[in-house]
Amino acid sequence: MSKVLIIGAGGVGSVAVHKCAQVPEVFTEIHLASRTKSKCDAIAKSVRERTGVDVATYAVDADNVAETVKLINAVKPDLLVNLALPYQDLPLMDACLETGVNYLDTANYEPPEEAKFEYKWQWAYQERFKEAGLMALLGSGFDPGVTNVFAAHAMKHHFDEIHVLDIIDCNAGDHGQAFATNFNPEINIREITQRGRYWERGEWVETDPLSWSMDYDFPEGIGHKKCYLMYHEELESLVMHIKGLKRARFWMTFGDQYLTHLRVLEGIGMTSIEPVEYNGQKIQPLKFLKAVLPEPGSLGPLTKGRTCIGNVMQGVKDCKEKKLYVYNICSHEAAYEEVGSQAISYTTGVPAMIGAMMMLTGKWKGEGVFHMEQFDPDPFMAALNKHGLPWQEVEL
Ligand code: NDP
Repeated sequence: MSKVLIIGAGGVGSVAVHKCAQVPEVFTEIHLASRTKSKCDAIAKSVRERTGVDVATYAVDADNVAETVKLINAVKPDLLVNLALPYQDLPLMDACLETGVNYLDTANYEPPEEAKFEYKWQWAYQERFKEAGLMALLGSGFDPGVTNVFAAHAMKHHFDEIHVLDIIDCNAGDHGQAFATNFNPEINIREITQRGRYWERGEWVETDPLSWSMDYDFPEGIGHKKCYLMYHEELESLVMHIKGLKRARFWMTFGDQYLTHLRVLEGIGMTSIEPVEYNGQKIQPLKFLKAVLPEPGSLGPLTKGRTCIGNVMQGVKDCKEKKLYVYNICSHEAAYEEVGSQAISYTTGVPAMIGAMMMLTGKWKGEGVFHMEQFDPDPFMAALNKHGLPWQEVEL
């Protein structure tokens, strides 16, 4: 018997609610709250039609701690799952501490006025969660999330030490739009336009945004794609927890059309988060751009193809060199048919549900603030196979 309160009725929130409804033996009550209640109601309607499960819905401004505290006290959940935006991480962690509820999210906190991807703000909650006897699980999406668990799985079953880690995120899907992002455009563009960064021999090395690329031959017929080096938040915790790491990098595929649009938008200042004055009003160009770009949710029925996200890891086992690739392939069309969303939301919403299941069933437990690779990867890896994100591993 457990009650979950999910905050955020966007693409990821929708998938997570649908997937929780498919596991009624764990999620006996599902509550969904977001800024716009009608979006929660639309998800609840789809869930009822697909699974027969009822979802209770509410409006909440998650930036307002007192409002969330009131909602938590009314619902009394066992776990709060934060699938709103990274800006809401800290106010939601505060509300959990005030009400004595465990916490889970899929993206690290970002200050709205600065595109900074660092865990320092959430690590600062370590002692308070510990003292309150509560658990916060950070980054339970795909990347971060499943990629952290893939690394923990490789460490547990395949290596004595992992020396080189390359996380490679390929979206080989096509939505037919001139330019659109697969998840929240504001968060996505802030992430992509920042400087690149990777870890080598104990130090962070910076690169110009999207200035390094490589060609990677993806499995199962996906084939060759150009991948660009980016900074991604899971690197920050993985370099702390994976034994022997000498180099850790993150790569993502982008098509030429996407990059051309991005360069033009950047060149004319449309991706900036510095407010400009317009008609006596201050507006952030990036927020305006988000308003004119397609809603990621609207891409569901349009997107064809597959994603392939995985870790290439090199290291030693019993004094022998070894190279292993662990990956998942997810079909946009199959995800849409099952839950009404494309694969980017699906590959994030499913691990959010599984992370919640690990906490609610006590398979993963602790007091304080944790990353995914700090727990036993086995039950999570088994759940991925069972709940729609089967993985493969091959020695290279
Ligand atoms: P969406 O923009 O589709 O959804 C965000 C939702 O949060 C919207 O329903 C929005 O409400 C709601 N929201 C925003 N601000 C508030 C607030 N102050 N109070 C209450 N609700 C609020 O984003 P996605 O679903 O694409 O992404 C959700 C999260 O998942 C993001 O943090 C993103 O970074 C993360 N993510 C993680 C990935 C991973 O692999 N780890 C991959 C992809 C995404 P409204 O609709 O009214 O604006």
